Amino acid sequence: MIKVNRLIKPAVLKKHEKKWLSKIQKALSSGNKKELELATDKYQHNDIKAQLLKMFLGKCAYCESKYDHVDFGDIEHFHPKEKYPILAITWKNLLLACPRCNINKDNEFPKPKFINPCVDNPNEHFLFEYDEYIGIANVLGITPRGEITEKTLLLNRDELRKNRSLYIKKLIALAKYYHEDNTAKELLDQAMDERNADSEYLAFARMIKEKYVQAS
Ligand SMILES: [Zn+2]
Repeated sequence: MIKVNRLIKPAVLKKHEKKWLSKIQKALSSGNKKELELATDKYQHNDIKAQLLKMFLGKCAYCESKYDHVDFGDIEHFHPKEKYPILAITWKNLLLACPRCNINKDNEFPKPKFINPCVDNPNEHFLFEYDEYIGIANVLGITPRGEITEKTLLLNRDELRKNRSLYIKKLIALAKYYHEDNTAKELLDQAMDERNADSEYLAFARMIKEKYVQAS
């Protein structure tokens, strides 16, 4: 997980937020479930999704996996909308997550609360550790909030860790040829560029250059 700067609120939300919010409030006070469902669903507007895709570059806010080539991804409510319907269309409550993280998080909102990549600094709550002897890249929660996020979202689930570990292993191989091979340099620099949509697992990739590229 890396810190992601929130882009500005999409124009459509700026324009309709008040109206949409009052519909949610009205549905809440009338207790009409169908009405509430319709009112809280406005977050699914295409322009809101487009702004989130631009913000997260098609990668999951929690596990940093790139998934937009195989899935549309889910708009994720940091405060779950079932528990906090009033926040269903609040821009600051919206993230983008892969289907797995989204399902794992479900309607959970524990205390201590999860790490929010747009608010918190993930480096203060996690250790991103690569064990080169066994070739495994683990996310370790080092604070109670980091720990509960890692355990609930299963940030070390088998398939994710396998994919992440292989990717990091390749970056380390590139790092060894950084000064000798232009392609290796180019690929590693791209992997470290946070605005590059293809750079997955940046939290890990960032330590590769520092640790594995020999000083020239
Ligand atoms: Zn994910």
